Amino acid sequence: MSWTRRKFIGVAASLSLSARIPAAAGRLPDAAPGYRRIAVEEAFATPELLEDWRQFLARAKDEDPAFFSLYSGLLTSPGARNLRERLNDVGRGRIRVMDRWGVDMQVLSLTAPGVQLYPPKKGAATASEINTRLAAIVAEYPDRFAGLAAVAPQAPAQAAREIERAVTVLGLRGVLINSHTRGKYLDDRDYWPIFEAAEALGVPVYLHPNTPSPQMAEPYLDYGLAGPGWGFAAETGLHAVRLILSGLLDACPGTRIILGHMGEGLPFWLHRLDSRFDLFARADRTGRVKRLRKKPGDYIRDNFLITTSGMPWPPALMLAREVMGPDRIMFAIDYPYESSREAVRAMDEAPLSREDRTKIYSQNATRLFRLPPGPGAGQVEASA
Ligand code: MN
Repeated sequence: MSWTRRKFIGVAASLSLSARIPAAAGRLPDAAPGYRRIAVEEAFATPELLEDWRQFLARAKDEDPAFFSLYSGLLTSPGARNLRERLNDVGRGRIRVMDRWGVDMQVLSLTAPGVQLYPPKKGAATASEINTRLAAIVAEYPDRFAGLAAVAPQAPAQAAREIERAVTVLGLRGVLINSHTRGKYLDDRDYWPIFEAAEALGVPVYLHPNTPSPQMAEPYLDYGLAGPGWGFAAETGLHAVRLILSGLLDACPGTRIILGHMGEGLPFWLHRLDSRFDLFARADRTGRVKRLRKKPGDYIRDNFLITTSGMPWPPALMLAREVMGPDRIMFAIDYPYESSREAVRAMDEAPLSREDRTKIYSQNATRLFRLPPGPGAGQVEASA
């Protein structure tokens, strides 16, 4: 038994952690791997917000059926209590899990669908409250947490102002939006001020999944398709392609968009997006596709970064590395929905060079989010 494991068992016993953390399976990660592990799509919630969503469930059955199909379990079932507690824990319990699996830092964001369920005024006000709270969490553990702001796209002008406040006043590192907002997509020009604000501040926009929008929900309701196994990627991948084809990235060429889940299918699809580009242009009702300066794949390589959240699978990682390059991939777990152990193990064991592994685990995130260099950062450079 390694020293790290003995130490963990001792700590767990003294803190009665065994009820909250699944039994150890597989080996613990190397405690001193020579690189930091920064996970960039890590979810939290507040008990008040979860209660608020519970109230919305009755109406959601008609208004937002995919949300209802996935979230009624998460919000009400006794079996998901542990998950709800983990979402709400942004202190020592979460840090113990990070320590156990060798995760140095989590970049936190409000869990989906964030404030995007609400009418504009309430959405904007809730986003501000959450961002202030998130800044306080980060201030308490500045070397373990950083944060991405929540905004309410349904109030675009306020959202743009809130991004500025979140970055310049609160020190948050970017913004995270959970795909569609009550069926509206961000390629609509009404929402471009959000991207203009992020571009001007030099911060990225994380386009996180949401359950399929009301207008595409119906075929996802059978078989439980609305969630992470399929519907999230279908919804968010569609959203990303809409953004690319809308001309947004010609208007705001400095925009950086992050996609989780190994790019929501786009790296795999990249060749076909380009090879059938003429058909997009021919069938386009908006007339915008013809005016694009580049092909879809060029925007994906120039403006997008992807993360490994929920995809602890080396074959997908190696394909993404091949088509996106090692500078455009970041490590993420999707805590607490996904296993930290699986995420770390897949990254530790993927057939990557030490240089690429270091980029994906920490260097790309440190650069993109302008995170403070962690302890041993100089050492990594020296030993790389
Ligand atoms: Mn997530």
